[in-house]
Parts: sequence; structure tokens; C-alpha cells
Amino acid sequence: MARIGIIGLGNMGSGMAAKLAGAGHDVRAFDVSDGALARAVAAGCTAGASAAAVGDDVEAVVTMLPAGTHVEQVYRDSLVGRVAPDTLLIDCSTIDVATALRVAELAAKAGLPAVDAPVSGGIAAAAAGTLTFMVGGTREAFDRAQPVLATMGKSVIRAGAAGAGQAAKMCNNMILGATMIATCEAFALAERLGLDAQAFYDIASVSSGQSWSMTSYCPVPGVGPVTPADKGYDGGFAAALMLKDLRLAMAAAGDCGATTPMGSRAAELYEAFVAAGHGGRDFSGIIETLRP
Ligand code: NAD
Repeated sequence: MARIGIIGLGNMGSGMAAKLAGAGHDVRAFDVSDGALARAVAAGCTAGASAAAVGDDVEAVVTMLPAGTHVEQVYRDSLVGRVAPDTLLIDCSTIDVATALRVAELAAKAGLPAVDAPVSGGIAAAAAGTLTFMVGGTREAFDRAQPVLATMGKSVIRAGAAGAGQAAKMCNNMILGATMIATCEAFALAERLGLDAQAFYDIASVSSGQSWSMTSYCPVPGVGPVTPADKGYDGGFAAALMLKDLRLAMAAAGDCGATTPMGSRAAELYEAFVAAGHGGRDFSGIIETLRP
């Protein structure tokens, strides 16, 4: 079993730390929140005194932080230049490609293997150990990260070189944002045309309108599997996080000159939804703004 550090024990990191500890690893955990740290200790981790302390004497350090600024600060101030040579750095946060490349370069200059490994799957998948990891980094770094990530997920896929994991994550979530809105629009139009929602679901879910947003995360209550729609759009994947991911995708598209009209429109619609005070609600709740 390995000695593993983990920094960032929020909604996602707490479940991931518990999975690592549950698999028998010696897990040293740190979070700036005392409450989050106490929960990790209750799940079998050892509390680190600081972010830098969890990097001492471990084989790998996992970070699961809110955004690029937090990751860069932790890499610069607490990990690179401090951890033992050959310590593997695994960043699972969703961050912008430019920062992912900067921290990868920082690690490479210090001779540290590093991967960006953002996840698909929400809080429930983190707790259940069924996340999908999309990984950017060298083949050697990926091979070392794979068994650690496999403890926390059902799929671990190498996307390419450093930054490719973040690129895959934002492209995936741009599809998700756009297909969720398209699915909501179609249900709203079907209603106006007098179609029964269940009948429309039965047809579209086995026809060419099928997508994950339709069959795994149906935005209409009482139709399809149980989803946040059945709980008043409470819990699930917060609209504010969808907006964060769409903004990252739009920034990357701007940087490389890609044309993304659907992604751009999805970002505008989620901007408005979040600005109207719905940032904490599940992202499928946007259907309510598409009905008269
Ligand atoms: P969160 O805000 O619940 O947790 C982040 C944790 O990091 C907090 O506990 C915070 O105290 C801690 N933190 C912040 N700065 C720190 C520092 N300098 N040192 C130590 N700890 C620090 O966020 P989350 O929902 O767990 O998301 C984490 C990442 O995963 C984000 O990048 C998010 O976009 C991504 N993500 C989230 C979901 C989801 O459904 N929540 C799904 C996929 C990906």
C-alpha cells in the first residue's frame, strides 16, 4: 500500500480521500477548513499540519481544489521544491489549460512527474469511487498515476500530453451544457405541442435525439431514471459549476481560435440562470426558464 497526500477535502476530495483510505493506503490529508479535515480523519486519513506537510515522505500527492489559482499557489508554495524527488503530483481539479500547462512545466523543471487528471462524475461518484479520470501527462507519469486513480474511479483514460486531461474535460462538459439545454428545449416544445412528456421520452430515448442528458439525467420530473428533477432540482451538479466549466471552454476556444457557437450560447444561458440566483441548483433546472 502507498503513502499518499491529498489536499482539498471538499465535496469531491472528501469522498476521494475516504476511498483511498478505505483501500488501505496511508493517506495524509489537508484542507484549510478544519471541518473538512476532521471529516477526512473520521474517514481514516491522518491530518497534515499544512499543504506542505502532506507532501513530505509520500509517493504521490493528489490535489482537488476549486480553481487554477488555488492549484498554482499550492504547487508553488507547498509542493514543488519541497517534496522528495520523484514524488508524483496528480491534480484532479478542473482548471484552465494555461494554468495546467504552467504547473506541469514547474513540476517538470524540478524533475517531478506530474499529471492533470480532472474527473467526470459528481459528488455521488466521488463517494462511490466511480469517477472517470481523463489524464494528461507523459506515459511514464500516467502509468504511475493509474493505480492511484483506479482506487477512486471506474475509468482512467490517458488523453495525451500535459494539459490534455483539462482539454478533454472542458470539451466533454461543453457537450453536456449544450445537450442539456437542447434536451430541455425539446421537452418544453413537446409540452407546448401537446405531447405527453413520458411518451416523448419513450420515443426520443430510443431515437436519434437520445443523449446522456436525456436518458441518464432527464430534466423532467417523473420521467426516466430518478434525477435531480425529481428532487426539485436540488443537489446534483450545480449550475455554477457548469458555468465555470463553460467559461473555461470559452476561454480555451478564444485562445486557440476555435468556433463554438453552441458552447458560447450555452455559456450565455447559464450566465443568466446563475445571475438570476440559481447557481446552487442542479444545472437541469434551466428547463424552468424555457417554459412560458
Ligand atoms: P469544494 O469547494 O467543495 O472543495 C474544495 C476544497 O478545497 C474546500 O474544502 C476548500 O476548503 C479547499 N481549499 C481551498 N484552497 C485550499 C488550499 N490552499 N489548501 C487546502 N485546501 C484548500 O469543491 P468541489 O466540489 O470538491 O470541487 C473540487 C474540484 O472538482 C473543482 O475544481 C470542481 O470544478 C471539480 N469538480 C467538481 C464536481 C462536483 O460535482 N462538485 C464534479 C466534477 C469536478
